[in-house]
Amino acid sequence: DELHGETAPDNRPRQVPGYTYSRVEPTPVRDPHLLAWSDDLGDYLGLARPAERGPTVDALAGNLVTDSMKPFAARYAGHQFGNWAGQLGDGRAISLGELEATDGSTWEIQLKGAGPTPYSRRADGRAVLRSSLREFVCSEAMHYLGVPTTRALSLVGTGDTVVRDMFYNGNPRPEPGAIVARVAPTFIRFGNFQMMAAAGELDNLRALADYVITHHYPELGAPSPEVYVQWFAEICRRTAVMVAHWMTVGFVHGVMNTDNMSILGLTIDYGPYGWLEPYDPGWTPNTTDFSYRRYAFGQQPQVALWNLARLAEALALLVSDVEVLRPGLDSYVTAFESTRQEIMLRKLGLTALHPKEDVHLTGGLHEALAEAEVDMTIFFRQLSHIAPELVAAPEQESERFQELLAAATYVPMPNPAHTPLLQWLQRYLQRLRQETNSEAAIKALMLGANPKYVLRNYLAQNAIEAAEKGDLAYLNTLMEVLKHPYSEQPEHEEFAAKRPDWAWDMPGCATLSCSS
Ligand code: AMP
Ligand code: MG
Ligand code: MG
Repeated sequence: DELHGETAPDNRPRQVPGYTYSRVEPTPVRDPHLLAWSDDLGDYLGLARPAERGPTVDALAGNLVTDSMKPFAARYAGHQFGNWAGQLGDGRAISLGELEATDGSTWEIQLKGAGPTPYSRRADGRAVLRSSLREFVCSEAMHYLGVPTTRALSLVGTGDTVVRDMFYNGNPRPEPGAIVARVAPTFIRFGNFQMMAAAGELDNLRALADYVITHHYPELGAPSPEVYVQWFAEICRRTAVMVAHWMTVGFVHGVMNTDNMSILGLTIDYGPYGWLEPYDPGWTPNTTDFSYRRYAFGQQPQVALWNLARLAEALALLVSDVEVLRPGLDSYVTAFESTRQEIMLRKLGLTALHPKEDVHLTGGLHEALAEAEVDMTIFFRQLSHIAPELVAAPEQESERFQELLAAATYVPMPNPAHTPLLQWLQRYLQRLRQETNSEAAIKALMLGANPKYVLRNYLAQNAIEAAEKGDLAYLNTLMEVLKHPYSEQPEHEEFAAKRPDWAWDMPGCATLSCSS
């Protein structure tokens, strides 16, 4: 009620000036059935896993709207691939309202793929199983990795088909549709503020800022021009922490448009994202971005800063001058560098003995990894086992480094591309020998910072192919494995394997498009 919302449901696509959201009704689907459920999140929200069919699943598909639900779609705008795109809004996401978790905190629950809204433009408001499954699994995998993210409670099949960009013998191939129930404190994005600023709706802009501060940044106190400045700096800091995690775990978001940037610094809107297998700063999974690579792995820190600058332009209307927001942008840079370095040191088993010199050490690693074409996840995980053991056994160094490279590299050995990495490893071990922690303590630190299991692109594809055939066993096992990414799970070694030969050029494994 604090925000200015359109109250009469009308799902027809249109411009919606003057409102921060529109009341909408989800469009029912033919046969809602549960495909997957996130047990931990359900427990936290006080929700028991529902049966395959029934009222809970109907509600999670948009077929059942209870009296306590007030479904709405938010109005937002954004810069897409660097260009101003005007009004976008929740075109296929419909929020049902808020739930209170077992600890008293409140969580917005949103159905993605629940049918058209005023913001659907020319699209259908639906989502296909493959993209919904990818969002469902990755949200949860990121959470268990410790990366700030929105969550996902359920994956529900609709019983309807959806036509997208998949073709078979030149004809569009209908695909099964699905709906993810996503969960976050709020799904408000940079783009919500950009919308109000661009439309000159100053009262809405201020109301939205005050709402977000009061409900989601209460520690900042009552909104005022000074508080807007502190708030912006805090958004910058949280965004920096999020991107630092992406960069150290090998996650590529793929579509860092400003409408896909959460005002809480959470990873949001899992579309054509991907995981680095061979370490490559220029890699993007998003085929829509193959010519410019704006959102490639190595671009992400800069793009987040660019997006924050666009947010600053919108929030400038609330403060005396955009310049007062500049320190926030500066704090992004320092928070990003320090967080990434802190995580990198943990990944290498190092403590803050030589902060200045260690910046050069970690800096050199990025280049050496890229040249050696090693699998990022396997490299760091194997290093966690091997490096601590070499602290007191220098005579085994060269043999064990070869072992490490053989496990991690995608190029045939021996290979001159490995020379910089081998040299770096020698330098690193000298540094590691200065640590006073025991071998076991170093190993524990490293194993806790270097996941064994991430959502490799081909694992998601395997889960999709099985689920499309009605087999959910692989998906369920994958979800269980990804719940404990930092543990050895000897019975699930295959989920930690390098990208297999078949997966190099296959759509879904190394390449994805936006339009899913
Ligand atoms: P994205 O690139 O997924 O963040 O989407 C950009 C915009 O397009 C957002 O406003 C989405 O709500 C909208 N959109 C994407 N797919 C659909 C769809 N199938 N139906 C309606 N709107 C969509
Ligand atoms: Mg989006
Ligand atoms: Mg999307």
